[in-house]
Amino acid sequence: MGIQVGCKPNAGITRISRMGDKRKDHQEECNDQKGDPPTEGFSYVDIFATKHIEYLLVIGFLLLFIVFWRFLTRPAKRVFKAAGKYVPVINEWFSLPEEIYYHLGHSWAAPEGKNLVKVGVDDFAQKLVGKINAIQLPGIGSTINQGDKGWTLEVDSKTIDMLSPVTRVRNRRFNLSLVYDPVRNQYNSTGLLLELINDTPPETMKILGVTELDLFIPIFTFLFGEAQLNGPAALVSTHRLRNQFYGIPDDQALLKKRLLKEGIHELGHTFGLIHCFALKCVMKSSTYVEEIDQKPTHFCKLCQQGVLKWQNEKNI
Ligand SMILES: [Zn+2]
Ligand SMILES: [Zn+2]
Repeated sequence: MGIQVGCKPNAGITRISRMGDKRKDHQEECNDQKGDPPTEGFSYVDIFATKHIEYLLVIGFLLLFIVFWRFLTRPAKRVFKAAGKYVPVINEWFSLPEEIYYHLGHSWAAPEGKNLVKVGVDDFAQKLVGKINAIQLPGIGSTINQGDKGWTLEVDSKTIDMLSPVTRVRNRRFNLSLVYDPVRNQYNSTGLLLELINDTPPETMKILGVTELDLFIPIFTFLFGEAQLNGPAALVSTHRLRNQFYGIPDDQALLKKRLLKEGIHELGHTFGLIHCFALKCVMKSSTYVEEIDQKPTHFCKLCQQGVLKWQNEKNI
């Protein structure tokens, strides 16, 4: 059912037409003849005027795109120049000495000597926090990683944890005389590995010790490294990885590559991998340094699967 609203000229119709009255008359005739109700709210739109708008929109969009593109591709130095204007202003607000290293957690570190690093709170945090009543420090001998909670500030009744800008590694001395063999003039690898295990924090997943000492175990003349199968600790020695040991000129890049391979190899044992017979696998056993040079730094597919299996079993 519908509601008949009649067929009066222009009834409910707004015409925007350049086609002239002819079309208008035709529409009215149609409605007269068939008695169809006029379509209310319908507008005729001039096709040429519409296209003009479309063209203008496209041109306008292109112009905007050009402006945007020029903004994106303008020389970076102009951006830096603009930013540079504000740097002195920021410097006036906060003290930012250049000789120290800053962490995103508003702490800083200043190396002082070989084994000492001074740490502190940056000027921004200090201005924000105000007067500090007390500082809680971590326990003596605790290990802290960069980005972990380093210390806590007490301000009024609140406490604010600050992030450590550096990793604090325990500097424990091993009693090397216990593992030294004066006849061989070498160090017992298993003894040194046990020292490392004893010093490993319980939450450690894996630890790799690197030493310059010449390692041995009673059944072998020397060792490049040793590890606990499925355990947390591994040890490598650079002693026989250096070219100088063989009377060849020093090659630091080669030494790094050899150390990387032997480090990965020994860590591979801690993931439960045994020696592999694949030529292109870091888990291949190496008796001579030339054999280390021939093997890659990566695991073969089978050994990779072994590491993944270990991860799945440990739910890591
Ligand atoms: Zn091995
Ligand atoms: Zn392999």
